[in-house]
Amino acid sequence: MENRKHCLITGGSRGIGASTAYRFAQAGYKVTFFYRSDDESAQYTRQKIQELTYDVLAYKVDVRDLDAVSSAVKEAVDTFGPVDVLISNAGISKIELFTKTSPEEWNRIMDTNVGGLFNLVHTVLPSMISRHSGNIITVSSMWGVTGASCEVCYSTSKAAIIGFTKALAQEVGPSNIRVNCVAPGVIDTEMNAVLDDETRNALCEETPLCRLGTPEEVADTIFYLASDTSSFITGQVIGVNGGYIT
Ligand code: NDP
Repeated sequence: MENRKHCLITGGSRGIGASTAYRFAQAGYKVTFFYRSDDESAQYTRQKIQELTYDVLAYKVDVRDLDAVSSAVKEAVDTFGPVDVLISNAGISKIELFTKTSPEEWNRIMDTNVGGLFNLVHTVLPSMISRHSGNIITVSSMWGVTGASCEVCYSTSKAAIIGFTKALAQEVGPSNIRVNCVAPGVIDTEMNAVLDDETRNALCEETPLCRLGTPEEVADTIFYLASDTSSFITGQVIGVNGGYIT
């Protein structure tokens, strides 16, 4: 009898999402991941996971597109069964003064980081409720907790994810569904490739553990939140930031 669980993660082609997809595959999960455009990274991640398991699906799905999300989720569920663990990780950022932020840029970030979360959870949650079982993990940022200068839009979107997590956890707790959030600090991924060496060094100095975090460290925290080891934890925001904020 097949009883391996199914984990679906967005933004799984690279960075934190790719490490998380790999972490769940290592633990024996069937893994579905979504990505937006980077076919090469998606192919690389899929091949790496296939060294562990053939039960991996990759879909090129923009999380802003509800219809595309719904049809990919349906295909994944038809193949691997219902989603047991849902991880909303896809996100984008932009560093610029608020006065320079155009309405188009504001909408692009909010539609991806918050709209994408809505589309994903709205699609998957009904099945979790009817099965009286499920685990949802959202990915915010420490800037969603404290706010960051020159990242007003990003900070707003990441604060919204925290509000979403806390509210949904209360709503679906009685349905035996846990909802938690990770709020990473500065993690060494392509998202931070825009930072120059001086800024990276300054960020390391401001971090009590004196370095940037790795995607694997965030993946391990997400995995913990999805596991039975954290069975009484819901509605929480777990920082993975080397002590940058406390
Ligand atoms: P990366 O930029 O390395 O990867 C982002 C991932 O999201 C990619 O897989 C990308 O797909 C996908 N993605 C972006 N937009 C969409 C979309 N519209 N639809 C579907 N997929 C999309 O980011 P990180 O791994 O660094 O970040 C992952 C998450 O962690 C984000 O939510 C980010 O805000 C958060 N975070 C990151 C921190 C960091 O320091 N790195 C710190 C705090 C939070 P594709 O490859 O095709 O573009």
